[in-house]
Amino acid sequence: MSSASVKDNIVGSPQSSCGEARFRIAVIGCGPKGLFCLERLLERLTSVENRRGLEIVIFEQAPYPGAGQVYDLRQPDYLRMNFASHNISAWPPNGHLNSFPQPTLVDWLQQYFPHMAKPDAFIPRALVGEYLHWCFQEVFKQLKRLAAVRIERASVSQITREGQSWRVDSPHDSTVYDEVLLTVGHEGWRTSLPQKLAGHPADVNSVFPTEKQLSVDHVRPQSTVVIRGFGLTAIDAILAMTEGRGGHLKRRDGKWFYTPSGQEPSTIIPCSRSGRPMFAKPVPGKALVPEKVKNIWPRYREVLLQLPAQTDGLDFERDMWPVIQDAAKYAFNLCGGRGARQWFDSWYMVDCDGQTAAELMQQSYRVAMGQQNPSAAWAWGEAWRQLYPALVARISHGGLKDNSWADFHPLAAEMERLAFGPPAENLGRLLALIEHQIVDLRFVSGCYPGTESRSIETESGTTQLAVDHFVNAVLPAPSELAPEGLLAALVQDRLVSRHEPSQALLVNREARPLDSAGHPTAGLALFGRCTEGCILGNDTLSRTMHDHPETWANSVCRHLLCSKGKTHE
Ligand SMILES: Cc1cc2nc3c(=O)[nH]c(=O)nc-3n(C[C@H](O)[C@H](O)[C@H](O)COP(=O)(O)OP(=O)(O)OC[C@H]3O[C@@H](n4cnc5c(N)ncnc54)[C@H](O)[C@@H]3O)c2cc1C
Repeated sequence: MSSASVKDNIVGSPQSSCGEARFRIAVIGCGPKGLFCLERLLERLTSVENRRGLEIVIFEQAPYPGAGQVYDLRQPDYLRMNFASHNISAWPPNGHLNSFPQPTLVDWLQQYFPHMAKPDAFIPRALVGEYLHWCFQEVFKQLKRLAAVRIERASVSQITREGQSWRVDSPHDSTVYDEVLLTVGHEGWRTSLPQKLAGHPADVNSVFPTEKQLSVDHVRPQSTVVIRGFGLTAIDAILAMTEGRGGHLKRRDGKWFYTPSGQEPSTIIPCSRSGRPMFAKPVPGKALVPEKVKNIWPRYREVLLQLPAQTDGLDFERDMWPVIQDAAKYAFNLCGGRGARQWFDSWYMVDCDGQTAAELMQQSYRVAMGQQNPSAAWAWGEAWRQLYPALVARISHGGLKDNSWADFHPLAAEMERLAFGPPAENLGRLLALIEHQIVDLRFVSGCYPGTESRSIETESGTTQLAVDHFVNAVLPAPSELAPEGLLAALVQDRLVSRHEPSQALLVNREARPLDSAGHPTAGLALFGRCTEGCILGNDTLSRTMHDHPETWANSVCRHLLCSKGKTHE
């Protein structure tokens, strides 16, 4: 996929020559969140009269700002979104400036890729990257009218506090900034911390970028491969080693079939602790859900939003879980089903063997595609998806009692499996690979054996296989900071503290990190994955669930005005 290079745009406006003090802003990392913050800053800056001396430097190591690494335009098309196109827009729902085009993804696709513009489609991540980069270029053009802006295609190695300001060091630059925004997301493609893998090392530690990490040089054709993990990343890895190697996946009569290329491994063995699979996201308009079910969700969201505030926070199991249970039960009843609660209790307690996992995935595919009536699993997944914005609003920023996190964490992980799994078409592809016996689920629940053994055996010990390659398809948890990274250094220097129950980095509603005494750290802001837990659901493309880019932009403009005030004194 092609896109005009941003390089043509990177020389910003001439530096201020008016002799007024400079106000410098550094944006470190410019994937989607960096773009969203810049867009809000642009909107706020238009109403600031005195902007002279304003400089903005965007540090991004990846070639396409806005897209970053996750939505890199050069990645292969078999890596698809887990979010339907109609959910994606780089612009907030009610924050539009009129002066330049701000299309949603679907509007943009209609203009540039009309054959891909179906609102319910789950399109390649590269294409979403192209859209995000296009939006970035629009924002960048507009920002250039207001400030001296430039992009440094570099990785920032260090940030150091100097009084109320921050020194930012990159390979060719060391400059002091008044405001630093850290939107480093996944901090690059990296593996889980070594101690987490202690005793269980892999030959391939991280699957991204798949074209490199899972190439035939690293994972040989016709080999036996064990994958650690059975989530979305494992599905990406499986598709990379099959469809990505020239195998053909085709849908006929609502079912997927695989024709091998001969370049794929002979056996791919996913391995997870519980064996419980992820469920397909329903295809809107296809799932056989009665119209009346739609009407129940606003009421349940309202119940959650209206729960009386408690000084030490809500108790998830006592206050919120019954609302979710009730919503799932009611939705299932309206679909003609009974026993939603019993289904969840038995699902939650047991590990799945390969056959059960495959049957559950089959069932969820058929429900998602409207080939069978909604199941209890669908009702639970739908309840979680529909009520999630209310949970985000109530749980973020200390909404839960500290001791309630022990209940919340495992239930949320379980609900993610039911609600935020792969699109149905990717699950259909996986099922075709299982049917073709390239993906082998016999070992799905049990211990990941690691490289030392060079073999794997079923939990019962009755079947053993020799293994050629071990691949780690588990992303580092949000709380697992890159050991040599900028965020870990801030924690070590006690400029940022952790939200103890979730281990997320603690920020206030303006995304300002809080130090160990609970005071906001001036001139610094953190967004995205590292705050997951302090802010719920923050590692997403959604622009509707959180308003932190807006509150951050407001606070930066206040800081700017305040500094101007000082200059004039
Ligand atoms: C494989 C995968 C698939 C996903 N699919 C979806 C999906 O379908 N839907 C969805 O809503 N979410 C999805 N997500 C979640 C995804 O993380 C968010 O959608 C989004 O990318 C978050 O944006 P971000 O800007 O916070 O982080 P990132 O996208 O990770 O961007 C951070 C940027 O910071 C840069 N950076 C890091 N360190 C430095 C440094 N020191 N100096 C300079 N630059 C630096 C990186 O190069 C990167 O471009 C997916 C995540 C992954 C990993």
